[in-house]
Amino acid sequence: MGIIDGLKLLRTIKAGKGLIKLNNNLKLIRRRDKVPGVKRSTFTKRQRELVLAKTNSHSHICGIQVTIDAFQADHVKSHCMGGEHAENNYLPSCSTCNNYRWHYSPEEIQIVLKLGVWAKTKIMNDPDLGLTMANEFVKYKMGVRRRRKARQVNKSNIDIL
Ligand SMILES: [Zn+2]
Repeated sequence: MGIIDGLKLLRTIKAGKGLIKLNNNLKLIRRRDKVPGVKRSTFTKRQRELVLAKTNSHSHICGIQVTIDAFQADHVKSHCMGGEHAENNYLPSCSTCNNYRWHYSPEEIQIVLKLGVWAKTKIMNDPDLGLTMANEFVKYKMGVRRRRKARQVNKSNIDIL
């Protein structure tokens, strides 16, 4: 895959449909370039310590402090893109950053960050659209929590059977 400058492409977009098309294209490229079958194994405690020491116990994305037991080893280059399972391909991440980064390509993450900062600014500064967006987001997050809770209840029902 050639290097795609997602942000350069973003600057050429003249309408919302262009943004949707760019996101779709970046997704298709990520899927096209997916490398299957990279062998995974678990890190030893020593390997986890080495990964954690790289950022002095902070999530490399958001900067929050993480512990040896709770941090997640985040790929610098994902398995999907041919990244190796080796300490030098990992940085410590908190679970939120690791879960949200998912297996997006760097170009997609840059767009996600730009969209996120734009959305936050809208929520803070636009009394109409901002409130609508805030309401939709809270509704979505409440739905996620409700579904998670329902799963836990279902699980505990199984446990007592
Ligand atoms: Zn983080």
